[in-house]
Amino acid sequence: MKTLTTTAGAPVADNQNSVTAGPRGPVLLQDYQLIEKLAHQNRERIPERVVHAKGWGAYGTLKVTDDISDYTNAAIFSEIGRETPLLIRFSTVAGELGAADAERDVRGFAVKFYTVEGNWDLVGNNTPVFFIRDPLKFPDFIRTQKRHPRTNLRSPTAMWDFWSLSTESLHQVTILMSDRGLPTAPMYMNGYGSHTFSFWNNDGKRFWVKFHFKTQQGHKHFTNSEAAEVIGTSRESYQEQLYSAIENGEFPRWTLFVQIMPEADAAKTSYNPFDLTKVWPHGEYPLIKVGQIELNRNPDNYFSEIEQTAFSPSNVVRGIGFSPDKVLQARIFAYADAHRYRLGTHYEALPVNAPRCPVHHYHKDGSMRFFANDTGDSNAYYEPNSIDGPAENSEYLEPPMVIDGDVHRHNHRQGNDDYTQPGALFQMFDDAQRQRLFSNIAEAMQGVPEDIVYRQLGHFQKAHPEYALGVAKALGVNFHVVKAA
Ligand code: NDP
Repeated sequence: MKTLTTTAGAPVADNQNSVTAGPRGPVLLQDYQLIEKLAHQNRERIPERVVHAKGWGAYGTLKVTDDISDYTNAAIFSEIGRETPLLIRFSTVAGELGAADAERDVRGFAVKFYTVEGNWDLVGNNTPVFFIRDPLKFPDFIRTQKRHPRTNLRSPTAMWDFWSLSTESLHQVTILMSDRGLPTAPMYMNGYGSHTFSFWNNDGKRFWVKFHFKTQQGHKHFTNSEAAEVIGTSRESYQEQLYSAIENGEFPRWTLFVQIMPEADAAKTSYNPFDLTKVWPHGEYPLIKVGQIELNRNPDNYFSEIEQTAFSPSNVVRGIGFSPDKVLQARIFAYADAHRYRLGTHYEALPVNAPRCPVHHYHKDGSMRFFANDTGDSNAYYEPNSIDGPAENSEYLEPPMVIDGDVHRHNHRQGNDDYTQPGALFQMFDDAQRQRLFSNIAEAMQGVPEDIVYRQLGHFQKAHPEYALGVAKALGVNFHVVKAA
């Protein structure tokens, strides 16, 4: 048996009894073991993520099955058969750390690829679009999903008030209220990079790209009442299913696809291809198969490997670049900022976040600086230097991204078609799916003031008249479809 020690390594003689003056107490301040145990416990929590607090994760691999090296020189895609280790963290968005897993919500689908040329984080969702297209609205939107400041309860009024005043949300609201808004477990849903990113190849040519992870387990969803039953018996149903599937060797798999858009097409599409509320129709930009993802190892310690894992869209690697997507641009700043706040300056050096390739940088001190001197020479602590310290390599230079436009607060709602794509989605639903959509929305709208309900019905109508009529019927309110002039 190993001998218990203090954190300073000294063997502990008694871990059952505090040091007291006499058998009836009091305890003495000199009982450092007692103080250390209490002090550690007081510091066991770190701030939970403001969004995506509740999560489930595991390790696995991406295996490349198809050649896309014409589009990108990213090392991860350089050859068929290449395997790259990865970590995926799934999450709900609004619920706190102790929230139930089986709640209707968008799911985070964040992937950290430990590539040989650095970490590439694809921090996506289980939906191809999002509620907003301008990051200025993100804090407002999230406020409507969290608790009301006075009641400390979730507020359907705030949610529908915001959504009905933000028509760009209609596409994502339709997905959220449809079957796919409540998957039964992480392995039964797709993942999407959601944003448009870019690829660039060895000739310096850029392509716009979207990423899709299609579940190989098939889609499985709960109705609201099935989910209520599950939550009544377990709040941890996702953790239980993901963990036990992997422990039992039933490894969840997804097929990775990309959609590729030639750079010049961005000026020609009827929709803005960088708009996070829009998809690229598959008929125009077909899915191209890239590889297979498998999750096959549970973390050994949930806190250190999942709670402390830090994904950021700022982590791209050679061959993969950003795009003008406004929300992506804001996330490039906000995610790394959140990690510095939650985890500290050197969060990327934590074992779960550390790249699996050599790391050479000149960032130095700060809280919890624990990694080795990485420049190979203690005199090389600035750059440029004459000591052969790490230096840039122009081989990795990204081609210029050509942006043309006047600096202004451009109105993102003016002239933007927020209805065609939600309408196309609605038309894909069969009758049973539509009925569940209507009743999910009616349930979510309980207690919402009439003016907000009618404003939102107006949006449903513009997507498809049957959409509005179905929701109105489920709500038990009168609604007449107004024909466009
Ligand atoms: P397609 O028919 O070519 O593609 C439909 C897509 O919708 C497939 O990726 C499919 O995913 C997905 N899908 C199927 N059933 C549902 C459902 N009940 N809820 C949500 N998604 C579903 O059509 P388009 O590309 O022209 O797109 C039409 C509409 O489909 C869009 O307006 C959008 O709302 C939705 N959609 C489009 C995606 C895209 O990237 N183009 C991606 C996802 C949704 P799967 O094969 O996994 O079932």
